[in-house]
Amino acid sequence: MHNSGITLIKHPQYYYADGQIVFQCEGYLYRLYKGILMQKSKLFKAMLSLPQPHWQGGGDTTAGSTKAALDGATDETAINLSESHTSTEWDHLLSFLFPVWTGEERPVDTLIDILNLGSFYEVEEAREFAIQTLSVRQDFRPALRLNAARRNRILTWVEPAMRQLFQASLADLSDSDAKLIGPETLLDVACTKAKIETHRKRLALFPPKVVHSAYLCDDKEGCTHAWNTAWWGQYDRPGVAKAILQLQKPLPGREVVERVQAINVEGMTFSCKRQTLENLQKEHVKGMFSAEDRLIQNVIDHIYKHLEQSM
Ligand SMILES: [Zn+2]
Repeated sequence: MHNSGITLIKHPQYYYADGQIVFQCEGYLYRLYKGILMQKSKLFKAMLSLPQPHWQGGGDTTAGSTKAALDGATDETAINLSESHTSTEWDHLLSFLFPVWTGEERPVDTLIDILNLGSFYEVEEAREFAIQTLSVRQDFRPALRLNAARRNRILTWVEPAMRQLFQASLADLSDSDAKLIGPETLLDVACTKAKIETHRKRLALFPPKVVHSAYLCDDKEGCTHAWNTAWWGQYDRPGVAKAILQLQKPLPGREVVERVQAINVEGMTFSCKRQTLENLQKEHVKGMFSAEDRLIQNVIDHIYKHLEQSM
């Protein structure tokens, strides 16, 4: 059949002969069950309850005389959804609304479509299903997660996506992922990563100061040497500095204090070691070790702020 000059074909899966409402999307005709759509989607409920349907993306809205016929009651008056999304995206939402069991796991892209259209059509179940399923998927890339979080206002996804992004190397980022993250955030991440790198080097290069015991230390030089050796490491004892500078999985700053507690400082006066470790617990010293967390948190807060402003 023809509609607006395009040849429309009945969708092989979602054209139910006994359906009560007809849509068209990118050349396909969909005949669906009105009751199910109205029950699942707040937007369809509002739209299909109207006595004279008005549909933003649909039909020839300039022709006032035909407006009353644009109700989706017949193939000829199918409601056009092509301006809102693609037929593939629509198919994916319908695979949730009118499920056929295949036994196969849905790909991440399909779940994203269900999420996006679930948000658009206000299908709470679809949104929740996609959020829950995607949250535990290992192949859900941080760029995709951040983009979906922003588009669908899923605040709880921002932080895990950003932390994953900070752990990964920007050199491995694909062009499409860079686009998903967006230039502003990408620049923010790159600058912050550079600052963290510099901070790490500084942390590693300057071992924490040794605090000697006023009464029990009789060899300050030997004590300091033992501490620095433990910090730098020896052939049979990995040092803390190396762990901080690791390219793969470097030791996070906030874990340095913990790691230092556990190192074996051979040749250091026991009381000096205790006092030195106590010194590391002081707020300003601790703050230095957790600086990278604050830098990352700033980027995350920046995104939250943007999201709140656009709400
Ligand atoms: Zn000492």
